[in-house]
Amino acid sequence: MNFDHILIRYGEISTKGRNRRIFVDRLKRNIKEVLADFPGLDYEGTRDRLYLHLNNERHEEIIERLQYVFGIQSFSLAIKCESDINIIKEKALEAIKSLYQRHDTFKVTAKRANKQFPLDTNELNYQIGSHILINTEDLTVDVKNPTINLRVEVRKEATYLTCYDYKGAGGLPVGSSGKGMLLLSGGIDSPVAGYLSLKRGVELEVIHFFSPPYTSERAKQKVIDLTKELTVFGGSIKLHIVPFTAIQEKIQAQVPENYTMTSTRRMMLKIADILREKQQALALITGESLGQVASQTLESMVAINDVTSTPILRPLITMDKLEIIEIAKQIGTHDISVRPFEDCCTIFTPASPKTKPKLEKVSRFESFVDFDELVMEAVNRVETMIITKNKEDEFSHLF
Ligand code: ATP
Ligand code: MG
Repeated sequence: MNFDHILIRYGEISTKGRNRRIFVDRLKRNIKEVLADFPGLDYEGTRDRLYLHLNNERHEEIIERLQYVFGIQSFSLAIKCESDINIIKEKALEAIKSLYQRHDTFKVTAKRANKQFPLDTNELNYQIGSHILINTEDLTVDVKNPTINLRVEVRKEATYLTCYDYKGAGGLPVGSSGKGMLLLSGGIDSPVAGYLSLKRGVELEVIHFFSPPYTSERAKQKVIDLTKELTVFGGSIKLHIVPFTAIQEKIQAQVPENYTMTSTRRMMLKIADILREKQQALALITGESLGQVASQTLESMVAINDVTSTPILRPLITMDKLEIIEIAKQIGTHDISVRPFEDCCTIFTPASPKTKPKLEKVSRFESFVDFDELVMEAVNRVETMIITKNKEDEFSHLF
């Protein structure tokens, strides 16, 4: 059958009152970006729907990609026709004929958005249903559990016929909630935190702390690959690689061993916050989960968080490791995360980090060193690249 449209139903957007315009525009923009290599498509947005006119573009790949776009509740292949009962009946029959197999059952679910239309829903169901029954063999009606539910939506400007709903990714359109900086290690957790933030509409830039020669190019590649996986959900992402060796060596030399972890995290946050401000983002995002490791106790968070008053989003804070792993597998980051390459923290991890560090103590230890200068030096030597699904364009030393 010739499906000529895809009908896209918005998710939570529908409830967003006055912000709806922003949400819809953003969603439309994101869909256009994802489908940029289908030049034939026409887009027509209404208050609660977006119609993609396929203009003979092949729909299989489009359907595949739409399933990753946040802000979509569901979508369907559709046939558009004139709101004329005879034409509707013919199109409905055509649709069913191309789909049904022997012993299938069906029902018609009509919806009349245009109240001026001369037939009400019952009459529509009846007329379309009987036209199908008369003109097919071996097909029966089942209103409770049909194999094919033919939905007929009669609107003023046109009627749309659909047979099957694809589930959308839910959430909010990426970018509709502002921008956040994701601290991405090579581990399992932070990519999942990035994914969940994208899902709530946060546009991401990524920050990675890199400590050559303690960490290798392969560790960096891992972070590039993880970022690339995240681009599936929201388009290209800026990745900032921060040279962190000098700071880590200084911490090792100057801070008592059981406080090195706390200090390391504080320096990471300080740098991330400077980059956030430069890039005009509103929040920092980490993959922390309460109690998972020494640096993720509430006491640690008090000592670490003290360096900034910027909101820190921790989407995984109450999740169990197994739940996080489950999501990582679903979004395709798990296998990359478990590649056995070192990251800067595992290498410098002390044997017994303080699980209840004291803010006064860590501040005092740090006060003997001019960390601010090292922090600014690291910021000035940040290497930034843009990661897209297929290529990374590197333009170093953006700042
Ligand atoms: P992950 O699996 O994300 O590495 P984790 O459970 O190993 O998390 P930690 O190593 O304590 O936890 O790191 C906590 C968070 O700090 C990470 O989720 C990440 O957001 C950030 N982080 C840690 N190391 C780095 C790094 N090298 N670069 C950027 N962010 C980092
Ligand atoms: Mg880690």
